[in-house]
Amino acid sequence: MNLKKSVLVLGTALLLSSSAFAAPITTEGTAVGKHGDLTVAVTFDNNKIQDIRIVKSAENPILAGEVFTTQLEAVKASNSVDIDTISGATFSSKAFLAAVADAAQKAGVTLNKANKKAVKKVAKELPLVSDYDVVVIGAGGAGFSAAIEAKNAGANVVLLEKMPAVGGNSLISGGEMNVAQNWVQPVLGIMDDTPELHAQDTFKGGDEKGDMKVINVMTEEALDAAKWCRDYLGVRFEDDNLFFFGGHSRKRALIPVGHTGTEFITKFSAKARELDIPVITNMKAEELIKDASGRVVGVKATMNGTEYTFNARGGVVLATGGFGANKEMVKKYNPKIDERFMTTDAPGSTGEALYMAERAGAELVNMGYIQTYPICDPISGVIELIADARFDGAIMLNQEGQRFVEELQRRDVLSEAILEQTGGYCWVLWNDTIGNISKTVQTHTHEYEAFTKQGIMTTCPNLKCIADFTKIDEKALNATVERVTAMQGKGNDKDFNHRSGLKDMSTGSYYVIKAVPSTHHTMGGIKINEKAEALTADGKLIPGLWAAGECTGVTHGTNRLGGNAYTDIIVFGRIAGKAAAAAVK
Ligand code: ADP
Repeated sequence: MNLKKSVLVLGTALLLSSSAFAAPITTEGTAVGKHGDLTVAVTFDNNKIQDIRIVKSAENPILAGEVFTTQLEAVKASNSVDIDTISGATFSSKAFLAAVADAAQKAGVTLNKANKKAVKKVAKELPLVSDYDVVVIGAGGAGFSAAIEAKNAGANVVLLEKMPAVGGNSLISGGEMNVAQNWVQPVLGIMDDTPELHAQDTFKGGDEKGDMKVINVMTEEALDAAKWCRDYLGVRFEDDNLFFFGGHSRKRALIPVGHTGTEFITKFSAKARELDIPVITNMKAEELIKDASGRVVGVKATMNGTEYTFNARGGVVLATGGFGANKEMVKKYNPKIDERFMTTDAPGSTGEALYMAERAGAELVNMGYIQTYPICDPISGVIELIADARFDGAIMLNQEGQRFVEELQRRDVLSEAILEQTGGYCWVLWNDTIGNISKTVQTHTHEYEAFTKQGIMTTCPNLKCIADFTKIDEKALNATVERVTAMQGKGNDKDFNHRSGLKDMSTGSYYVIKAVPSTHHTMGGIKINEKAEALTADGKLIPGLWAAGECTGVTHGTNRLGGNAYTDIIVFGRIAGKAAAAAVK
């Protein structure tokens, strides 16, 4: 801001605040959230916030729910943005506070300082000891499936979630769900898919390290699980479109409306409310309780430092997700994935519950198989969906302006190749020829705004401007793009054998984004059998203990295929919930 302007703003502010009769003023403030611009309209009256309205937000409505309720009220009550952020929604939370601060600055209003205590976790009125038939730990897709099925089987069930919001990775995932012989396949003329084919693809995709018995159950039960989601929960799927993820021999992934897990988690939460299943957030399971016979009969959990005991007559279902957001744990099990990696995962994916299961006798298997996603935001670690232009010909360059890998390689190969380059990052570059096919800029407008504002992405009419932005040597950049254009078309890439063919990149506009790999899915975890029963190292059952979803470790082998997580969590969540309810004597 130049001096004249700031004097003017200051003058306006003084005028506003000094006049006893100043009318309320409403200004808009904007900041960059996790998924794009977050704009609020704030009404001030005599320097005091009267009202805050969300004008524009692409934040996940479930994750950011507490930001727009609890935090918003705390900002109003304290007339301050100097307050705690909401854990699990830090990006959205910080953006919200910054947007209010921006609005205040525009209104010439000075907010209060240091009110760190303004946001308090609401300590719920809970008995220190409570008795249930089934205790489910972790409110992601697997946990909700288990809790709902247990309840419908007649059990008195509780669902515990350590974060302030439910959903876990299931919420922020794309939510696609692989189902052979699903109802959309005939619409697209796909008549020859079978659960057996799906199982073979899954086994091969995981380098034949998955447990075929468990995989078969997943693929055979997939259709019933999807119908349960559609007809019982009310999950809406696109009815004329499927995703075709790498490693699958048939197009078979159902797509939830909105292309995220929000559609599932919204419906799961509504069903849990309808069935009167208590979902207790901010409650972290710490230790499984066993009786003298070795049966798991409950769990000790904490909220705000207070310990609560949840007894479980039938048993406990672990649905605590993976450990991709726990850097130390990731590095411990796979030293190649060290501190350079951020994560695409929900902040609750920290895996302590796996150790809790281990202490109760469960075997942890395949823990070193950790999937990284190669093209992610270097600031937040989230997947850059806008760079999916890669599937239509966008190229990956290092800081020297060279291609260094075939852009359609497996996720692990790309990730390793990126980390070997200067600075451990790459640039993804495409032009309108590619963009007009992939349409990622038009589809992911929030990302486009946010990444551009963050300074990791730009749009240019020519390569000189791209070179200026990326600081790649212009001559080297020109040479690479000329070479790519010369090798366009399938089978012509002499350098890296691009499997679907390079494109003509001789003309703009050009788009470039900086990218790094992030930890994405942890394939290892608790050893289970096809009945979702937790097993010891010598293959024995641990009575009273079931596990489902990303916290288990036998389904995906070395590498989970896209679209298999949702199938896995719903199928085995349901099985575990029913079994735990049936175990109630
Ligand atoms: P899945 O896809 O297997 O359902 P998610 O990541 O979607 O896994 O959900 C797992 C949930 O479990 C997350 O919301 C996470 O915060 C929660 N969680 C993890 N550990 C614990 C714990 N110790 N106590 C309670 N909840 C937990």
